[in-house]
Amino acid sequence: MKLSKEELERYNRQIIAVELGEKGQEKLKDASVLVMGLGGLGSSVSYYLAAAGIGTLGLMDMDVVSLSNLQRQIIHSTEQVGKNKTDSAFDKLSKLNPNVNYKKINKKLTSKNAVSIIKNYDFVVDCSDNFNAKYLVNDACIKENIPFSVGGVRGFEGQLMTVIPLKSACYRCVFSSPPPPSDSPLPVVGATPGFAGTIQSMEAIKYIIGLREGLLTNYLLIFDLLSMSFQKIQIKANDKCPACGKK
Ligand SMILES: [Zn+2]
Repeated sequence: MKLSKEELERYNRQIIAVELGEKGQEKLKDASVLVMGLGGLGSSVSYYLAAAGIGTLGLMDMDVVSLSNLQRQIIHSTEQVGKNKTDSAFDKLSKLNPNVNYKKINKKLTSKNAVSIIKNYDFVVDCSDNFNAKYLVNDACIKENIPFSVGGVRGFEGQLMTVIPLKSACYRCVFSSPPPPSDSPLPVVGATPGFAGTIQSMEAIKYIIGLREGLLTNYLLIFDLLSMSFQKIQIKANDKCPACGKK
């Protein structure tokens, strides 16, 4: 879709990036992205994707904002404690960029609704905080052939990968079973999911504008912000993968 005069000015500094250009900006405007989870990762993902001018942004979470979220979930603020995260995120994002068509999905992702929600989007960013949701996103995206980014953080560390169904290794190819569940809350230093989410939003943008070569497909990026070490590990699709395997 053609850009308005206001949009040409708003996005000027990325339009003048030769890799993006006016064509790339139009692709962002035509695209729809689902942000699955509005916590630490989802805060930076939704903020950057809204600012970048994604046409339709799905905001999915069923939680309410709590005081202990605010140290890392920067899309929410103190006055929004007790509010639905989808409403809280919408309040912030619609002030940042009213051109975006926001869709609030105040639901928990389940095996029953995953496909029907996910199939409406061109790209999914998994920002969930649990393995069950990550497997659900993975399986639904592979079924519907929708590319996605998946990330996880703990403390100062994180792991990220991007999946193009049936063309690259999927989440289950790499993480075949979840770790044993734990009742104690995960330690997270706020800037860690902020950093990881920034990379995830970049993956969505690159995919949408067609810069596919540098994506984290068939690679797992592992970072540790304490030692400032970054590793990009090559991964392979597993023929016997229950989600994407050929056998
Ligand atoms: Zn797989």
